[in-house]
Amino acid sequence: MAENCSHDCSSCGENCSSRKSQSLKKQPHALSRIKKVIAVVSGKGGVGKSMTSAMLASASNKKGFNTAIMDADITGPSIPKMFGLKERAMGGEGGILPVETESGIQVMSMNVLLDREDDPVVWRGALISGTVLQFWTDVIWHDVDIMFIDMPPGTGDVPLTIFQSLPLDGIIIVTTPQDLVGMIVGKAVKMANMMNIPILGIVENMSYITCPDCGKKIDVFGESHIECVALEHGISEVLRVPIDSQLTRAADSGKVEEFGRNYYADFFDKIAERLCLKK
Ligand code: ADP
Repeated sequence: MAENCSHDCSSCGENCSSRKSQSLKKQPHALSRIKKVIAVVSGKGGVGKSMTSAMLASASNKKGFNTAIMDADITGPSIPKMFGLKERAMGGEGGILPVETESGIQVMSMNVLLDREDDPVVWRGALISGTVLQFWTDVIWHDVDIMFIDMPPGTGDVPLTIFQSLPLDGIIIVTTPQDLVGMIVGKAVKMANMMNIPILGIVENMSYITCPDCGKKIDVFGESHIECVALEHGISEVLRVPIDSQLTRAADSGKVEEFGRNYYADFFDKIAERLCLKK
C-alpha cells in the first residue's frame, strides 16, 4: 500500500496489493452496447489528437461500423465543432442520449451539455474525472461497434482515471515530428504497458506537406524518425498525415465528415483487423 494511501484507487497509480483485490472497471449504462473502445492519446495539446479521433471515426463510420466518439477533453473539447454539431444532448430512458453527427456518429462532449459552446469549464481534476466517468456510466450508447475516446493530452489525472476505469481495447498515439517524438512516445508506451493496454498504432500528424505543383513530399520539420521510434517500441501500424489546409478548413467549418481525402482509411482497416472487429 502507498505510504499516504487514501483508499481511493481511482486517483492513484500504485500497483499495490489492495488494488489487486478490486476491479476498478466501471460498468456502462445498462442500456448501452459497446463492442470496442480505443483511446486516442497525445503527449501535449495541439498535435491533432481530436482531428485523428474525428477522422478515424469518420473512416470507421464510412466502412459501416456503428461508431461513437467520447470527447474526454473536458476543458478543451473540439469534437462538436469539427462535426458542426449545434444541438444539445437530451435526457431519456434514465440516462443521457448522445448527439448524432450528419452521418450518424454518436458523440458525447462537454460542449453538447453547456448552454454556450464558449462557456469555459473551470473545474478541478476530480470533478473533471467524475464527468468523464459519467460519459461512460450515464450515457446511453446505442449498439456501438467501436468507440474512440478523445483523451485529454498528457498522463495526468483524467487519462489515468480512464485507463483504470474503462475497458480499453487499445490506444492510438498521436504525435508530431517536432514533438520530441522519442520521449513523448516512450511515456505513452510506458503508461499503456503499466495498464496492460495494447498500443494499436501511431500517427505522425503534420508530418510533411505535399508540393501543390509537383506533388513532392516535403519534410518541413526535417526527416521523420517515426518508423524507427515505432520499431523500437514494437508498434506495427504507423501513419504519416500531412499538413493539409483543406483539413484545417473542414475542421473549422464543421465538415470533417465530408472531407474527401481520408488519409486514415487504410490505417483504420488495419486497426479493425487487429481488433477482429466484425460488422
Ligand atoms: P489536439 O486535439 O491535439 O489539441 P487538434 O486536433 O484540435 O489538436 O488540432 C489542432 C489544430 O490543428 C486544429 O485547428 C486542427 O484543425 C489543425 N490540424 C490538425 N491536424 C491537421 C493536419 N493534418 N493538417 C492541417 N491542420 C490540422
